[in-house]
Amino acid sequence: MADHDVDLFVIGAGSGGVRAARVASSYGARVMVAEEFRVGGTCVIRGCVPKKLLVYASRFSHEFEDAAGFGWTVPAPSFNWATLIANKDREIDRLEAAYVGTLDRYKVNLVRSRAVLEDANTVRLSTGARVHAETILIATGGWPHMGPKIPGIEHAISSNEAFHLTELPKRIVVQGGGYIAVEFACIFAGLGSKVTLVYRGENILRGFDDDIREHLRNEMQTRGITVTCGHTVDAIEKVGDELMVRLSDNSTIAADKTMFAIGRRPNVMGIGCEALNLGCHEHGGIEVDEYSRTSVPNIYAVGDVTNRVNLTPVAIREGHAFADTLYGGKPTKVDHLNIPTAVFSEPELGVIGLTEAQAREQLAILDVYKTSFRPMKATLSGRNTRVFMKLLVDGTTDRVVGCHIAGPDAGEMIQLIGIAVKMGATKADFDATMAVHPTMAEELVTMRDKAMSYGRKAAE
Ligand code: NDP
Repeated sequence: MADHDVDLFVIGAGSGGVRAARVASSYGARVMVAEEFRVGGTCVIRGCVPKKLLVYASRFSHEFEDAAGFGWTVPAPSFNWATLIANKDREIDRLEAAYVGTLDRYKVNLVRSRAVLEDANTVRLSTGARVHAETILIATGGWPHMGPKIPGIEHAISSNEAFHLTELPKRIVVQGGGYIAVEFACIFAGLGSKVTLVYRGENILRGFDDDIREHLRNEMQTRGITVTCGHTVDAIEKVGDELMVRLSDNSTIAADKTMFAIGRRPNVMGIGCEALNLGCHEHGGIEVDEYSRTSVPNIYAVGDVTNRVNLTPVAIREGHAFADTLYGGKPTKVDHLNIPTAVFSEPELGVIGLTEAQAREQLAILDVYKTSFRPMKATLSGRNTRVFMKLLVDGTTDRVVGCHIAGPDAGEMIQLIGIAVKMGATKADFDATMAVHPTMAEELVTMRDKAMSYGRKAAE
């Protein structure tokens, strides 16, 4: 150990890297972290946190409108993008400083540099200095993928740039149908932009439950977003101050900005993976075992760079488990099953477990419970919106295997439902739980009528 400069060298100070570094250090390891950009990584600097701040901003427009039904007279509100961005930037600066402070408190040595693997124990910094480490952790995250090089691609922005636009686009075309495209389409629409969402498949949010996808698409359209499915953006032409966005059916949309959110790729390029023959799987991420160990025994990888489940809490859990395993004497695997997740669209989605299609494939008997209702707030506000909830129950064991919610605070709800589902709660447990009245969430414990049953007849 003494031959090495540090026990652990972490490449990347994002969610996974910072957690691993500070926990390893708390166990007594000598830790160095290299970060070439800003401490905090995607989540803090250009992902979850600034996105959620923009989501909050975008929802005020409805609040102002809804207030009238409750007796308020609100003078015509106006919105200032520059103020929002400046305030958001100040908060991100504060958070970054807090991350740096944490690393400092835990005596982690932070170097502001790009780091490249030279061999299994050596990392080269941009100064040319070399650091010898007993163990190396790659936590370099991911990066927006901009797709094939279509004509005019240089005019498209990714979510990275969306956080720093000098002004709110009056018209924007967003390409993609995943988390980021849907969330940003709703953000821009809420702030007053005219939004067209262009998605190549049949319906947005592939991989989510079909009812939820349909529900969200309808709600987005009700809120004025044009959702165009079955098309791609094939060219972008700049004409004066305008962008002419040409779709695969040859139609053209005039816009001020176009944003691509067509997936993210693991940051594996240029960090020396090839030289070390680090295995990458077909999705481009670094291949690791259940303890996040790569094909080189003293090199580990956590978070989006492994392309397992690309969510911040997962990267944090993987980083923590890595440190517990190596330095805390507690070998820990991360359980990637039943991860609750939210899409901060308008309305919000919260989901956990199997979709109906997956459950039908996997279970001998499946009971489906669903409800769609007008939320109480909409009665006086007059807003045209509905909440949708669905529970999927294994008819053999009575366990709740999936929960899908579209409605206000669905993310908050699914965090708590996640505990029940993770614990293996049955539908009878849900039914035995007293409702909290009047709430939207009470529907989750009062659904009694099966909307559908699959396989039950054959079994009875
Ligand atoms: P996703 O992988 O979720 O979605 C990518 C979308 O782009 C899909 O709709 C995909 O279509 C489409 N697409 C892919 N390639 C092309 C192409 N060449 N041309 C046109 N369309 C294409 O990626 P995102 O960028 O939305 O997000 C990246 C990840 O970040 C997510 O997977 C998620 O894990 C994480 N994230 C999580 C958030 C949260 O927890 N709330 C918020 C934001 C991001 P198809 O479906 O047909 O493949």
